[in-house]
Amino acid sequence: MMRVIDFHCDTMGERIARSEGKVGLRSNDCHISLEKMLKGEGLAQFFAIWIPLHDTAESLGVTMQPYEYFNFVYEKYKEELEKNKDILAPAFCLDDIKANREKGLLSSILAIEDSVPLEGKIERVDEFYQKGVRLMSLTWNYENSVAYPTSADPEIMKKGLKPFGFEAIARMNELGMIIDVSHLNDAGIFDVLEHSKKPIVASHSNARGLCNHRRNLTDEMLKLLGEKGGLTGLNYCAPFMSEEAAKNNLTTCDDIVRHALYIKNKAGIDAVAFGSDFDGIGNNLDFGDYSGMPQVIAALEKHFTADEIEKICWKNAYRVIGESMK
Ligand SMILES: [Zn+2]
Repeated sequence: MMRVIDFHCDTMGERIARSEGKVGLRSNDCHISLEKMLKGEGLAQFFAIWIPLHDTAESLGVTMQPYEYFNFVYEKYKEELEKNKDILAPAFCLDDIKANREKGLLSSILAIEDSVPLEGKIERVDEFYQKGVRLMSLTWNYENSVAYPTSADPEIMKKGLKPFGFEAIARMNELGMIIDVSHLNDAGIFDVLEHSKKPIVASHSNARGLCNHRRNLTDEMLKLLGEKGGLTGLNYCAPFMSEEAAKNNLTTCDDIVRHALYIKNKAGIDAVAFGSDFDGIGNNLDFGDYSGMPQVIAALEKHFTADEIEKICWKNAYRVIGESMK
């Protein structure tokens, strides 16, 4: 059965683009390969181009500037689409996902994690849209022309979107590019919740009320997200699950279930989805990788109805994609 839609992974940039051809999407030892997606009931995957910056870029040996780096990974992404067109097809709107599904093809949706390559130029939003980007995380872990990241510094947490940030989200709404608030600071998230004309997503974030990590969403954010028709993608990063998971360096299916139940309680079942962060997280998973998604679903089935499971797997994603992406 093809039914899992996942809002975030780092496979393309972190495992494939810089591998100098050694790692491909079809078959590999990453969390995500197309073979693993087929085993794991995959339907559609958002593939993020994450942009390394500052000391992170330095530690990875990346010397390209953000815009150049986006284009570098983008070329690799297109190559992978071409090589795997018998299994995988790009999707730019909901109808594409439906059409691909009918042909038995997995869907790939291009995303960008960090709006830093916009460099304050509104026409870049259009350029990325033309290149197929349909979801943009406004920040990663550094300030950019749009906004501020989630931070240990309470003063940074209080800074709202920048004037260009408001311009950028309005253009994203017009074009049909999903606004992603994962990694965005608290005040920025509230600004987006208030000003976006379309449902938004936190592509890979859990509940802060259950695990007090600043990358997770507060109860108030979850409530507003639900009211806005948005969703949050359950992230499998151990430090976002619990202190115990962090200590054991292991995320279990039960950890995912706990956050799913909590988010359902605060935001409603319509706001629960998957946002694995596959190939962007360093911890172990008791279900292994994408091919273990049926184990995650089986664990959810003990606590959710069949209809709720379908919502988490793909129905909520269909609704948000249908309303916010074109
Ligand atoms: Zn991330």
